[in-house]
Order: sequence, then structure tokens, then C-alpha cells
Amino acid sequence: MADCPECARLREESAMAYSEYLSCKDELAMTDKADKAFAAKRRAFDRAKGRLHECHSGESHHRDAAHKWNSLPSDEQVEQKIAILRERIELADADGIQKAIFALSPVPNGWKAVPDLVVEQLLTLLRDVNMYASEAASYVLNYFEFESPHLSKRQKSLCLGFLEAHGDQFTHFHSQQVVTELRFGDYLK
Ligand SMILES: [Zn+2]
Repeated sequence: MADCPECARLREESAMAYSEYLSCKDELAMTDKADKAFAAKRRAFDRAKGRLHECHSGESHHRDAAHKWNSLPSDEQVEQKIAILRERIELADADGIQKAIFALSPVPNGWKAVPDLVVEQLLTLLRDVNMYASEAASYVLNYFEFESPHLSKRQKSLCLGFLEAHGDQFTHFHSQQVVTELRFGDYLK
């Protein structure tokens, strides 16, 4: 609810937790497993991830209790958000890309699930040849990792199918890391 101060406060908290999560993830990605600092960075990342999930469930809970907000966006709303993301990718604006991805997250939007159209559009974006070498792909791929608790079986299998066909084509090390996590971790099981 746009005019609810509690929603605004929780939204702000989620946004902060999200940027903390991304920076811990970056830190971890840049640290060698053999490095002494690795374990501490891993814990910091796990904490940040837990904090973000807590924020999201706090938002969900408040919306359910206070607003019974449990909607899905129209295709047009999704297309608009994807258009913003596409534009940020073309401008190679890392900060803008992350914000545009966050804007597709179901919980802060009050959506009851990830819309199929979001998954289809993100996979279409990833299929663009320019994405394979780009760091932007890692941000997009990360959506599937972070939103995995909200993805349907069909959405997970679409993503996994895509990664089986094209996962090896991603050459940026951040993307390669996320591809490996998605293919061999529990996120899409
Ligand atoms: Zn509210």
C-alpha cells in the first residue's frame, strides 16, 4: 500500500538488506576458498541472506495481516519493469540493473507468486548473445537463486532447462559462479 507508513518502512528495510546481501555475495565471490577470510565472509553472506529473507517474510506478514494484499501484476506491468531492466542492461548501469531486478521481486510488490511472464522474460533476456560475457547476466541469474522459494515447479524446470542448454556459454566469472550454484545446488530442485 503506497500510503501505509509500515509498508514504506518495511520496504526500506528490505532494500537495505538486499544491497547488504549483494555486497556480501560480491565479497564472497572475490575471496578464494583457501583464503583465511573465506569462512568469515561465508558467515557474513549467510547472515545477510537470512536477514533479507526475514525482511521479506516481515513484509509478507504485514501485507497479509494489514492489507490482505495478495495480487498478481498485469502482463503490462511486468513488461514495463522488464523494459526498464533491458534499458539499464543496455546502459551497463550495474546499480540500475540491480534495482530493476529487485523491482521484479514478488514480496516487495505484494505479488503472491513470481509471474510466469517474469521468468520467461528474464530467460529471453539471458538468451541474448551480448549477455554471455556480461556481468549483467550474473544479476539476472541471481534472481532465480534468491527467489527460488517463490518459484513454481514449472518455472524451476524452465530455468534448469535453459541452464543445461546455455549455462556453459556464460563466460563472466560471476555468472559462471551463479550458473554452478543454480545447476548443482538445491535452488531449482
Ligand atoms: Zn502496510
